[in-house]
Amino acid sequence: MSVDVFLDDDRLALRDEVGQVAGAFSERAEENDRLARFPAENFADLARAGLLSLAVPLELGGRGGDYLAFSLAAEEIARGDASTCLCFTMHCAGVAASLAGDDDQRRRTTERLADGAIFTVVFTESGSGTHFMEPQMSATRVDGGYLLNGSKSFATSAGAAEVVVVNAVVDGTPEGAFTLFMVDPKANPGIEVTGRWDAMGMRANDSRSLVFTDAFVAAADRIGPEGGGKDVVLGRPNFIALGLAATSVGIARAALDMAVEHATARVIEPANEPIARYQSIQFLVAEMAIVTNAMRLMVMRAALTADRDPEAAGAVMTEAKAFCNENGFAVANKALQVVGGRGYVRGHTAERLVRDARAGDLMALTAQQCREVVGRRVLRLDEPPEPAEGPLPT
Ligand SMILES: Cc1cc2nc3c(=O)[nH]c(=O)nc-3n(C[C@H](O)[C@H](O)[C@H](O)COP(=O)(O)OP(=O)(O)OC[C@H]3O[C@@H](n4cnc5c(N)ncnc54)[C@H](O)[C@@H]3O)c2cc1C
Repeated sequence: MSVDVFLDDDRLALRDEVGQVAGAFSERAEENDRLARFPAENFADLARAGLLSLAVPLELGGRGGDYLAFSLAAEEIARGDASTCLCFTMHCAGVAASLAGDDDQRRRTTERLADGAIFTVVFTESGSGTHFMEPQMSATRVDGGYLLNGSKSFATSAGAAEVVVVNAVVDGTPEGAFTLFMVDPKANPGIEVTGRWDAMGMRANDSRSLVFTDAFVAAADRIGPEGGGKDVVLGRPNFIALGLAATSVGIARAALDMAVEHATARVIEPANEPIARYQSIQFLVAEMAIVTNAMRLMVMRAALTADRDPEAAGAVMTEAKAFCNENGFAVANKALQVVGGRGYVRGHTAERLVRDARAGDLMALTAQQCREVVGRRVLRLDEPPEPAEGPLPT
Protein backbone atom coordinates (compact mmCIF):
# COMPACT_ATOMS: atom_id res chain seq x y z
CA MET A 1 0.00 0.00 0.00
CA SER A 2 1.55 3.27 -0.99
CA VAL A 3 1.03 6.82 -2.13
CA ASP A 4 4.75 7.08 -2.93
CA VAL A 5 4.13 7.68 -6.64
CA PHE A 6 2.81 11.14 -5.71
CA LEU A 7 5.85 12.15 -3.65
CA ASP A 8 9.23 13.55 -4.73
CA ASP A 9 12.54 12.39 -3.25
CA ASP A 10 12.67 15.18 -0.64
CA ARG A 11 9.22 14.27 0.68
CA LEU A 12 10.03 10.58 0.74
CA ALA A 13 13.25 11.33 2.65
CA LEU A 14 11.36 13.47 5.17
CA ARG A 15 8.76 10.77 5.68
CA ASP A 16 11.46 8.15 6.27
CA GLU A 17 13.29 10.45 8.67
CA VAL A 18 10.18 11.14 10.74
CA GLY A 19 9.21 7.47 10.58
CA GLN A 20 12.55 6.56 12.12
CA VAL A 21 12.18 9.12 14.91
CA ALA A 22 8.61 7.97 15.59
CA GLY A 23 9.58 4.30 15.71
CA ALA A 24 10.40 4.71 19.40
CA PHE A 25 7.04 6.41 20.05
CA SER A 26 5.06 3.21 19.57
CA GLU A 27 7.26 1.48 22.15
CA ARG A 28 6.49 4.22 24.71
CA ALA A 29 2.81 4.58 23.80
CA GLU A 30 1.36 1.90 26.05
CA GLU A 31 3.03 3.23 29.21
CA ASN A 32 2.26 6.89 28.47
CA ASP A 33 -1.36 5.91 27.80
CA ARG A 34 -1.64 3.86 31.01
CA LEU A 35 -0.11 6.62 33.16
CA ALA A 36 -1.85 9.44 31.20
CA ARG A 37 1.64 10.96 30.97
CA PHE A 38 2.73 13.70 28.56
CA PRO A 39 5.16 12.18 26.00
CA ALA A 40 8.14 14.31 27.06
CA GLU A 41 10.71 11.86 25.66
CA ASN A 42 9.00 11.92 22.27
CA PHE A 43 9.08 15.72 22.24
CA ALA A 44 12.76 15.68 23.16
CA ASP A 45 13.33 13.40 20.15
CA LEU A 46 11.31 15.73 17.89
CA ALA A 47 13.27 18.74 19.16
CA ARG A 48 16.62 17.00 18.59
CA ALA A 49 15.61 16.18 15.03
CA GLY A 50 14.60 19.81 14.38
CA LEU A 51 11.02 18.73 13.77
CA LEU A 52 9.50 21.22 16.22
CA SER A 53 10.53 23.83 13.63
CA LEU A 54 9.33 21.78 10.68
CA ALA A 55 6.85 24.40 9.43
CA VAL A 56 9.06 27.42 10.22
CA PRO A 57 10.40 29.15 7.08
CA LEU A 58 14.04 28.53 6.17
CA GLU A 59 14.86 32.25 6.48
CA LEU A 60 13.79 32.09 10.13
CA GLY A 61 16.00 29.09 10.80
CA GLY A 62 13.33 26.41 10.45
CA ARG A 63 13.00 23.39 8.16
CA GLY A 64 10.83 25.30 5.68
CA GLY A 65 8.28 22.49 5.47
CA ASP A 66 5.03 23.19 3.64
CA TYR A 67 1.61 21.73 4.43
CA LEU A 68 2.38 18.53 2.53
CA ALA A 69 5.57 18.05 4.55
CA PHE A 70 3.63 18.70 7.75
CA SER A 71 0.90 16.19 6.86
CA LEU A 72 3.43 13.47 6.02
CA ALA A 73 5.28 14.08 9.28
CA ALA A 74 2.03 14.09 11.27
CA GLU A 75 0.95 10.79 9.74
CA GLU A 76 4.26 9.14 10.69
CA ILE A 77 4.15 10.55 14.22
CA ALA A 78 0.56 9.34 14.71
CA ARG A 79 1.51 5.92 13.42
CA GLY A 80 3.89 5.78 16.38
CA ASP A 81 1.62 7.50 18.90
CA ALA A 82 -1.58 9.44 18.27
CA SER A 83 -1.34 11.53 21.45
CA THR A 84 2.09 12.78 20.43
CA CYS A 85 0.71 13.73 17.04
CA LEU A 86 -2.15 15.67 18.59
CA CYS A 87 0.35 17.63 20.71
CA PHE A 88 2.58 18.10 17.63
CA THR A 89 -0.39 19.40 15.61
CA MET A 90 -1.31 21.94 18.28
CA HIS A 91 2.38 22.87 18.57
CA CYS A 92 2.62 23.64 14.84
CA ALA A 93 -0.63 25.63 15.00
CA GLY A 94 0.72 27.63 17.96
CA VAL A 95 4.00 28.31 16.19
CA ALA A 96 2.20 29.46 13.03
CA ALA A 97 -0.02 31.85 15.03
CA SER A 98 3.03 33.26 16.84
CA LEU A 99 4.89 33.75 13.56
CA ALA A 100 1.90 35.71 12.25
CA GLY A 101 2.86 38.46 14.72
CA ASP A 102 5.45 41.21 14.37
CA ASP A 103 9.24 40.92 13.88
CA ASP A 104 9.94 40.86 17.61
CA GLN A 105 7.40 38.08 18.15
CA ARG A 106 8.89 36.11 15.26
CA ARG A 107 12.38 36.50 16.74
CA ARG A 108 11.23 35.39 20.19
CA THR A 109 9.32 32.46 18.68
CA THR A 110 12.37 31.12 16.85
CA GLU A 111 14.54 31.62 19.96
CA ARG A 112 12.11 29.64 22.08
CA LEU A 113 11.91 26.90 19.48
CA ALA A 114 15.70 26.67 19.50
CA ASP A 115 15.42 26.02 23.26
CA GLY A 116 12.95 23.20 22.63
CA ALA A 117 9.87 25.09 23.84
CA ILE A 118 6.48 23.49 23.21
CA PHE A 119 3.68 25.64 21.82
CA THR A 120 -0.06 25.05 21.80
CA VAL A 121 -3.38 26.73 21.04
CA VAL A 122 -6.42 26.79 23.28
CA PHE A 123 -9.65 28.51 22.31
CA THR A 124 -12.13 26.12 23.94
CA GLU A 125 -14.03 27.31 27.01
CA SER A 126 -16.62 25.32 28.90
CA GLY A 127 -19.14 28.13 28.36
CA SER A 128 -18.82 28.46 24.58
CA GLY A 129 -17.66 24.90 23.70
CA THR A 130 -17.98 24.30 20.00
CA HIS A 131 -18.43 28.05 19.43
CA PHE A 132 -14.80 28.76 20.30
CA MET A 133 -14.70 31.73 17.93
CA GLU A 134 -16.91 33.55 20.43
CA PRO A 135 -14.80 33.47 23.61
CA GLN A 136 -15.98 34.69 26.97
CA MET A 137 -12.47 35.31 28.30
CA SER A 138 -11.92 39.04 28.80
CA ALA A 139 -8.82 41.19 28.32
CA THR A 140 -8.88 44.54 30.10
CA ARG A 141 -6.38 47.22 29.10
CA VAL A 142 -3.92 48.28 31.82
CA ASP A 143 -0.58 50.08 31.74
CA GLY A 144 1.76 48.16 29.42
CA GLY A 145 -0.68 45.39 28.57
CA TYR A 146 -3.84 43.56 29.57
CA LEU A 147 -5.36 41.63 32.46
CA LEU A 148 -6.88 38.37 31.25
CA ASN A 149 -9.74 36.77 33.16
CA GLY A 150 -11.62 33.56 32.41
CA SER A 151 -10.78 29.94 31.81
CA LYS A 152 -9.86 27.68 28.92
CA SER A 153 -10.51 23.95 28.78
CA PHE A 154 -8.93 21.07 26.84
CA ALA A 155 -5.56 22.84 26.59
CA THR A 156 -3.46 20.16 24.88
CA SER A 157 0.07 19.89 26.35
CA ALA A 158 -1.11 22.14 29.21
CA GLY A 159 1.56 21.19 31.72
CA ALA A 160 4.41 21.19 29.21
CA ALA A 161 3.69 24.14 26.94
CA GLU A 162 5.61 27.39 27.39
CA VAL A 163 3.77 29.31 24.72
CA VAL A 164 -0.01 29.06 24.66
CA VAL A 165 -2.01 31.04 22.12
CA VAL A 166 -5.43 32.04 23.49
CA ASN A 167 -8.28 34.20 22.27
CA ALA A 168 -10.02 36.81 24.42
CA VAL A 169 -12.31 39.80 24.00
CA VAL A 170 -10.75 43.22 24.60
CA ASP A 171 -13.23 45.74 26.03
CA GLY A 172 -14.68 48.00 23.42
CA THR A 173 -13.73 45.95 20.34
CA PRO A 174 -16.57 45.29 17.88
CA GLU A 175 -19.02 42.52 18.74
CA GLY A 176 -17.86 39.12 17.46
CA ALA A 177 -14.20 40.20 17.32
CA PHE A 178 -11.49 38.65 19.47
CA THR A 179 -7.79 39.22 20.07
CA LEU A 180 -4.97 36.67 20.19
CA PHE A 181 -2.36 36.57 22.95
CA MET A 182 0.72 34.47 23.62
CA VAL A 183 0.94 33.45 27.26
CA ASP A 184 3.38 31.35 29.27
CA PRO A 185 1.53 29.46 32.06
CA LYS A 186 4.84 28.42 33.63
CA ALA A 187 6.00 32.03 34.09
CA ASN A 188 2.69 33.83 34.65
CA PRO A 189 1.47 33.78 38.29
CA GLY A 190 -2.04 34.71 37.12
CA ILE A 191 -2.44 31.45 35.19
CA GLU A 192 -3.14 28.16 36.91
CA VAL A 193 -3.07 24.79 35.17
CA THR A 194 -5.85 22.82 36.80
CA GLY A 195 -7.48 19.40 36.76
CA ARG A 196 -6.20 15.99 35.81
CA TRP A 197 -6.35 14.60 32.28
CA ASP A 198 -7.97 11.19 32.66
CA ALA A 199 -9.68 10.66 29.32
CA MET A 200 -10.95 7.66 27.37
CA GLY A 201 -8.30 8.09 24.67
CA MET A 202 -5.48 10.44 23.70
CA ARG A 203 -4.47 9.93 27.30
CA ALA A 204 -0.89 11.16 26.88
CA ASN A 205 -2.20 14.49 25.72
CA ASP A 206 -2.29 16.38 29.01
CA SER A 207 -5.31 18.45 27.88
CA ARG A 208 -6.04 20.27 31.13
CA SER A 209 -7.69 23.57 31.98
CA LEU A 210 -6.08 26.99 32.33
CA VAL A 211 -7.61 29.43 34.78
CA PHE A 212 -6.73 33.11 34.29
CA THR A 213 -7.14 35.44 37.28
CA ASP A 214 -6.02 38.99 36.52
CA ALA A 215 -3.23 37.42 34.49
CA PHE A 216 -1.04 40.26 33.20
CA VAL A 217 -0.05 39.87 29.55
CA ALA A 218 2.27 42.48 28.05
CA ALA A 219 1.10 44.38 24.98
CA ALA A 220 4.15 42.90 23.21
CA ASP A 221 2.47 39.50 23.53
CA ARG A 222 -0.68 40.52 21.69
CA ILE A 223 -0.65 38.94 18.22
CA GLY A 224 -1.99 41.35 15.60
CA PRO A 225 -4.23 44.31 16.33
CA GLU A 226 -6.93 44.41 18.98
CA GLY A 227 -9.97 42.63 17.61
CA GLY A 228 -7.93 41.18 14.73
CA GLY A 229 -7.68 37.58 15.95
CA LYS A 230 -10.11 36.13 13.42
CA ASP A 231 -8.08 37.54 10.54
CA VAL A 232 -4.96 35.87 11.92
CA VAL A 233 -6.74 32.54 12.40
CA LEU A 234 -8.66 32.54 9.12
CA GLY A 235 -6.03 34.38 7.08
CA ARG A 236 -4.09 31.22 6.24
CA PRO A 237 -4.79 27.48 6.14
CA ASN A 238 -4.52 26.21 9.67
CA PHE A 239 -2.65 23.16 10.78
CA ILE A 240 -5.31 21.83 13.11
CA ALA A 241 -7.84 20.34 10.68
CA LEU A 242 -5.07 18.91 8.52
CA GLY A 243 -3.15 17.54 11.52
CA LEU A 244 -6.24 15.93 13.03
CA ALA A 245 -7.05 14.29 9.68
CA ALA A 246 -3.45 13.04 9.37
CA THR A 247 -3.60 11.75 12.95
CA SER A 248 -6.52 9.52 11.94
CA VAL A 249 -4.52 8.27 8.97
CA GLY A 250 -1.57 7.40 11.21
CA ILE A 251 -3.88 5.52 13.57
CA ALA A 252 -5.44 3.63 10.64
CA ARG A 253 -2.02 2.64 9.30
CA ALA A 254 -0.92 1.43 12.73
CA ALA A 255 -4.17 -0.54 13.04
CA LEU A 256 -3.75 -2.12 9.62
CA ASP A 257 -0.12 -3.10 10.30
CA MET A 258 -1.16 -4.63 13.60
CA ALA A 259 -4.09 -6.51 12.04
CA VAL A 260 -1.92 -7.96 9.26
CA GLU A 261 0.75 -9.05 11.72
CA HIS A 262 -1.82 -10.65 13.99
CA ALA A 263 -3.76 -12.38 11.19
CA THR A 264 -0.54 -13.89 9.87
CA ALA A 265 0.75 -15.05 13.23
CA ARG A 266 -2.43 -16.25 14.94
CA VAL A 267 -3.01 -19.95 14.35
CA ILE A 268 -6.12 -21.65 15.75
CA GLU A 269 -7.55 -25.17 15.81
CA PRO A 270 -9.04 -27.18 14.26
CA ALA A 271 -7.64 -26.00 10.91
CA ASN A 272 -4.32 -25.22 12.57
CA GLU A 273 -3.58 -22.41 10.13
CA PRO A 274 -3.27 -18.65 10.40
CA ILE A 275 -6.58 -16.79 10.59
CA ALA A 276 -5.38 -14.84 7.52
CA ARG A 277 -6.63 -17.88 5.56
CA TYR A 278 -10.25 -17.09 6.48
CA GLN A 279 -12.11 -15.06 3.91
CA SER A 280 -13.84 -13.05 6.63
CA ILE A 281 -10.45 -11.84 7.88
CA GLN A 282 -9.28 -11.12 4.32
CA PHE A 283 -12.38 -8.99 3.78
CA LEU A 284 -11.82 -7.04 7.00
CA VAL A 285 -8.20 -6.34 6.10
CA ALA A 286 -9.16 -5.43 2.53
CA GLU A 287 -11.74 -2.90 3.74
CA MET A 288 -9.17 -1.43 6.12
CA ALA A 289 -6.57 -1.10 3.36
CA ILE A 290 -8.95 0.45 0.81
CA VAL A 291 -10.29 3.03 3.27
CA THR A 292 -6.84 3.86 4.65
CA ASN A 293 -5.58 4.58 1.13
CA ALA A 294 -8.60 6.80 0.47
CA MET A 295 -7.88 8.67 3.73
CA ARG A 296 -4.26 9.25 2.70
CA LEU A 297 -5.40 10.68 -0.61
CA MET A 298 -7.87 13.00 1.10
CA VAL A 299 -5.13 14.34 3.36
CA MET A 300 -2.75 14.75 0.44
CA ARG A 301 -5.40 16.64 -1.54
CA ALA A 302 -6.02 18.93 1.44
CA ALA A 303 -2.29 19.55 1.99
CA LEU A 304 -1.61 20.26 -1.69
CA THR A 305 -4.58 22.62 -1.82
CA ALA A 306 -3.23 24.48 1.22
CA ASP A 307 0.17 24.78 -0.50
CA ARG A 308 -1.09 25.78 -3.95
CA ASP A 309 -4.46 27.47 -3.47
CA PRO A 310 -4.68 28.59 0.18
CA GLU A 311 -8.05 30.30 -0.25
CA ALA A 312 -9.66 27.04 -1.30
CA ALA A 313 -8.03 25.03 1.49
CA GLY A 314 -10.57 25.52 4.28
CA ALA A 315 -13.32 23.60 2.52
CA VAL A 316 -11.04 20.78 1.39
CA MET A 317 -9.43 20.40 4.82
CA THR A 318 -12.86 20.22 6.43
CA GLU A 319 -13.84 17.39 4.09
CA ALA A 320 -10.58 15.57 4.86
CA LYS A 321 -11.06 15.95 8.60
CA ALA A 322 -14.64 14.65 8.50
CA PHE A 323 -13.74 11.70 6.27
CA CYS A 324 -10.56 10.68 8.08
CA ASN A 325 -11.86 11.03 11.63
CA GLU A 326 -14.89 8.85 10.92
CA ASN A 327 -12.97 6.27 8.93
CA GLY A 328 -9.94 6.21 11.23
CA PHE A 329 -12.26 4.99 13.96
CA ALA A 330 -13.88 2.45 11.60
CA VAL A 331 -10.47 1.06 10.59
CA ALA A 332 -9.26 0.81 14.20
CA ASN A 333 -12.52 -0.93 15.12
CA LYS A 334 -12.02 -3.47 12.32
CA ALA A 335 -8.47 -4.11 13.54
CA LEU A 336 -9.92 -4.92 16.96
CA GLN A 337 -12.26 -7.40 15.25
CA VAL A 338 -9.30 -9.10 13.56
CA VAL A 339 -7.49 -9.42 16.88
CA GLY A 340 -10.56 -10.68 18.74
CA GLY A 341 -11.12 -10.78 22.48
CA ARG A 342 -7.51 -10.34 23.53
CA GLY A 343 -7.49 -6.97 21.73
CA TYR A 344 -10.28 -5.81 24.03
CA VAL A 345 -8.14 -6.22 27.12
CA ARG A 346 -6.59 -3.06 28.62
CA GLY A 347 -3.00 -2.62 27.49
CA HIS A 348 -3.42 -4.17 24.03
CA THR A 349 -2.55 -1.88 21.12
CA ALA A 350 -5.92 -2.62 19.47
CA GLU A 351 -8.01 -1.14 22.28
CA ARG A 352 -5.75 1.93 22.57
CA LEU A 353 -6.03 2.64 18.86
CA VAL A 354 -9.84 2.46 19.03
CA ARG A 355 -9.92 4.84 22.01
CA ASP A 356 -7.48 7.27 20.39
CA ALA A 357 -9.30 7.19 17.05
CA ARG A 358 -12.61 8.07 18.71
CA ALA A 359 -11.32 11.53 19.69
CA GLY A 360 -11.11 12.81 16.10
CA ASP A 361 -14.81 13.50 15.64
CA LEU A 362 -15.01 15.26 19.02
CA MET A 363 -12.32 17.82 18.33
CA ALA A 364 -12.90 21.07 16.52
CA LEU A 365 -14.23 21.30 13.99
CA THR A 366 -16.45 18.54 15.38
CA ALA A 367 -18.03 15.94 13.10
CA GLN A 368 -21.25 17.96 13.01
CA GLN A 369 -19.54 21.29 12.37
CA CYS A 370 -17.58 19.78 9.46
CA ARG A 371 -20.74 18.43 7.90
CA GLU A 372 -22.51 21.73 8.37
CA VAL A 373 -19.64 23.60 6.66
CA VAL A 374 -19.46 21.12 3.77
CA GLY A 375 -23.24 20.93 3.41
CA ARG A 376 -23.65 24.71 3.31
CA ARG A 377 -20.94 24.96 0.68
CA VAL A 378 -22.35 22.19 -1.51
CA LEU A 379 -25.82 23.75 -1.26
CA ARG A 380 -24.33 27.22 -1.89
CA LEU A 381 -26.22 28.62 1.07
CA ASP A 382 -23.61 31.30 1.80
CA GLU A 383 -23.33 32.61 -1.74
CA PRO A 384 -25.25 35.75 -2.68
CA PRO A 385 -28.33 34.85 -4.72
CA GLU A 386 -27.88 35.31 -8.46
CA PRO A 387 -29.90 38.18 -9.90
CA ALA A 388 -33.07 36.90 -11.51
CA GLU A 389 -33.06 37.09 -15.31
CA GLY A 390 -36.29 37.31 -17.28
CA PRO A 391 -39.69 36.36 -15.94
CA LEU A 392 -39.81 34.19 -12.83
CA PRO A 393 -40.98 30.61 -13.44
CA THR A 394 -44.64 30.12 -12.58
C1 LIG B 1 -8.64 14.94 23.14
C2 LIG B 1 -9.08 16.36 22.98
C3 LIG B 1 -8.13 17.35 22.81
C4 LIG B 1 -8.52 18.67 22.66
N1 LIG B 1 -7.56 19.64 22.52
C5 LIG B 1 -7.93 20.94 22.38
C6 LIG B 1 -6.94 21.97 22.27
O1 LIG B 1 -5.74 21.71 22.28
N2 LIG B 1 -7.35 23.26 22.16
C7 LIG B 1 -8.67 23.59 22.15
O2 LIG B 1 -8.98 24.77 22.04
N3 LIG B 1 -9.63 22.64 22.28
C8 LIG B 1 -9.29 21.32 22.39
N4 LIG B 1 -10.25 20.36 22.53
C9 LIG B 1 -11.64 20.76 22.64
C10 LIG B 1 -12.46 20.51 21.41
O3 LIG B 1 -12.09 21.38 20.37
C11 LIG B 1 -13.93 20.66 21.85
O4 LIG B 1 -14.25 19.47 22.54
C12 LIG B 1 -14.85 20.89 20.69
O5 LIG B 1 -14.66 22.20 20.16
C13 LIG B 1 -16.32 20.74 21.10
O6 LIG B 1 -16.62 21.50 22.24
P1 LIG B 1 -17.38 20.81 23.47
O7 LIG B 1 -16.71 19.53 23.77
O8 LIG B 1 -17.53 21.82 24.55
O9 LIG B 1 -18.81 20.41 22.88
P2 LIG B 1 -20.22 21.23 22.95
O10 LIG B 1 -20.02 22.62 22.43
O11 LIG B 1 -20.76 21.04 24.31
O12 LIG B 1 -21.04 20.41 21.89
C14 LIG B 1 -21.66 19.12 22.18
C15 LIG B 1 -22.14 18.50 20.89
O13 LIG B 1 -23.03 19.38 20.20
C16 LIG B 1 -22.60 19.62 18.87
N5 LIG B 1 -22.90 21.01 18.49
C17 LIG B 1 -22.65 22.13 19.23
N6 LIG B 1 -23.05 23.22 18.56
C18 LIG B 1 -23.53 22.80 17.37
C19 LIG B 1 -24.09 23.47 16.24
N7 LIG B 1 -24.23 24.79 16.18
N8 LIG B 1 -24.48 22.70 15.20
C20 LIG B 1 -24.36 21.35 15.24
N9 LIG B 1 -23.85 20.68 16.29
C21 LIG B 1 -23.43 21.38 17.34
C22 LIG B 1 -21.08 19.40 18.91
O14 LIG B 1 -20.59 19.04 17.62
C23 LIG B 1 -20.96 18.27 19.92
O15 LIG B 1 -21.16 17.03 19.29
C24 LIG B 1 -9.89 19.02 22.68
C25 LIG B 1 -10.86 18.01 22.84
C26 LIG B 1 -10.47 16.69 22.98
C27 LIG B 1 -11.53 15.63 23.14
